[in-house]
Amino acid sequence: MAETVLARIYEALGEEGLRKARWQQKVRVWGLLAQVAGVALFALVMLPTGWAAALRDALGGGGAFGALLVVLALMALQSVFTLPLAWYFGYRVEQLLGTNRQTLSGWLLDYLKQGLLSTVLFGLFFWGVYLVFRAWPTAWLPALAGVVVLLVLGLYLAQPLMVRAQFKAEPLEDEELSARLARVFEKAGFAYGGVSVLRAGEKTARGNAALVPKGGRLEVMVFDTLLEEIGPEGLEVVVAHELGHRAHKDWPWMLGLYGLLFVVGIALAHAALAWTAGRWGLAGAGDPATLPLLLLVLNLWMLVAQVAMNAFMRSREFAADRYALELVPNLEAFERTFVTLARQNLADPEPPEWVEFWLHDHPSIARRLEAARRAVRSG
Ligand SMILES: [Zn+2]
Repeated sequence: MAETVLARIYEALGEEGLRKARWQQKVRVWGLLAQVAGVALFALVMLPTGWAAALRDALGGGGAFGALLVVLALMALQSVFTLPLAWYFGYRVEQLLGTNRQTLSGWLLDYLKQGLLSTVLFGLFFWGVYLVFRAWPTAWLPALAGVVVLLVLGLYLAQPLMVRAQFKAEPLEDEELSARLARVFEKAGFAYGGVSVLRAGEKTARGNAALVPKGGRLEVMVFDTLLEEIGPEGLEVVVAHELGHRAHKDWPWMLGLYGLLFVVGIALAHAALAWTAGRWGLAGAGDPATLPLLLLVLNLWMLVAQVAMNAFMRSREFAADRYALELVPNLEAFERTFVTLARQNLADPEPPEWVEFWLHDHPSIARRLEAARRAVRSG
């Protein structure tokens, strides 16, 4: 029965694990709100004071290249400004949960690396947005959509890079397991790109796995922490689940929805930016010095928009689980994997409904286990 698996999860978590899981959930809500508050405070510090306008003038933000400098400088400043929040929610919380295995300097270095990558990617994007607003002051929407498409593609392609910037990777030595996974790929009709085992255990106790594009193939990336515990059968199930997402084209749909929500967010921001014309030394929508306000509107919008994003992704999870159980009909390994994942990532198996609705891109473990049992019975 699904209830006995659930009981095993509660047992694996223990009282302390469950307390931490629930606290982690609360902290995520606070983290989201704190992030928006931080961005709002940054806008308040930079805009009414005229500092953003002064920075723009100093960097020659009226020209195209100067606009890029202004965008990058403001993004870098904001990262420094919100560093205390990043430290608390990214490092201190992990320490309190007992999942952190990094020194503070190691964490800072990772934060810097990831910050650089995303500053370059989003910096180019916001630069493009301002150039579009300048070139087409009224009919900016089609070109804006084009810039968002580039961002979404860039984010997708940069994903393996982001992972490799954080974790050292080693090829899987277990040839038998590799051959086994190759068969799963073959059965599903996907080109197998091998397995990279990420040395995540030196930084975190958490477990994770993903498929990432590698040439025309798909590579399996798995945390050593997860592989150690779920073993070959567990990994087979995890890979089958991820292949389900590929088979159902969940990635293109998700990226498309993300892009669409981004276009709406920027369109909302355009109205706010236009309002700044003649205020605080700013020149309206085409002025890169308005970036703190653009970021604030986007952050506020995404707080709401992620409800739609998450609802979509949750609905795809059930389908991927069903696919996995058809491809690798091993319910026992499927359930065992959930016990490990819940314990490693401190997941509350039965979170409050509103938390799941707002924050979770995966359905609760209890619901997934129940659906899996039903699928196996009826299939
Ligand atoms: Zn999934």
